[in-house]
Amino acid sequence: MSISENIAHIQGQISQACIQANRTLETVKLLAVSKTKPVEAILEAVRAGLQAFGENYVQEGVEKITYFQHQGIALEWHFIGPLQSNKTRLVAEHFDWVESVEREKIAQRLSEQRPAGMAPLNVLIQVNISQETSKSGVAYDEVIALAQRIATLDNLALRGLMAIPAPQHSREAFAKMQTLFVALQQALPECNIDTLSMGMSDDMAQAIEYGSTEVRIGTAIFGARQYNKN
Ligand SMILES: *Cc1c(COP(=O)(O)O)cnc(C)c1O
Repeated sequence: MSISENIAHIQGQISQACIQANRTLETVKLLAVSKTKPVEAILEAVRAGLQAFGENYVQEGVEKITYFQHQGIALEWHFIGPLQSNKTRLVAEHFDWVESVEREKIAQRLSEQRPAGMAPLNVLIQVNISQETSKSGVAYDEVIALAQRIATLDNLALRGLMAIPAPQHSREAFAKMQTLFVALQQALPECNIDTLSMGMSDDMAQAIEYGSTEVRIGTAIFGARQYNKN
């Protein structure tokens, strides 16, 4: 199937999941994860109506962002991969969102390096919700404290949480994330905490059932990835 057919198929699945969860379609954003995929593939997704894209590698993401800027095509770019401190400047200068914040030091650098004149950088805290499989993300019990510190940083807008649960336990993990998300909204009423990023190609319907406001879909839109080019 073509990329645009894949997108139509996913959108159908998202609307089905929304009906089952008694939610409206507008409450779930579709983030197209375009890592390792060429700009031509992204362009096809743009023509099919998508405008939010997720990238995992800084250099690759910046190249694509710059390409589309030069084309005069305005898109929304989310950084979703692990972020080291020596790469924060490029991310702060180019991306609209960072979904993988897990340390205060990284958040501070992103805030300091966000250029004046750009909108605040939207950030999500990545939660390590299935400790057994992932080393990325903040421990559940430390999320609120980190959020309170990030909320004080001038050039960031804390918007919510992101998680990548282990496939075997995704239902429990999504339920815990939903609880934590509500706790975060209550702990920081002055912030606009409106984004719960969870659900990928294989588990997005469940994630939507548990309140996901953004599903991150790569393979089901663009096909399998080939890593040998990196
Ligand atoms: C690669 C990636 C995705 C997309 O995964 P698919 O299984 O291809 O849909 C989503 N989120 C993150 C953080 C990723 O790194």
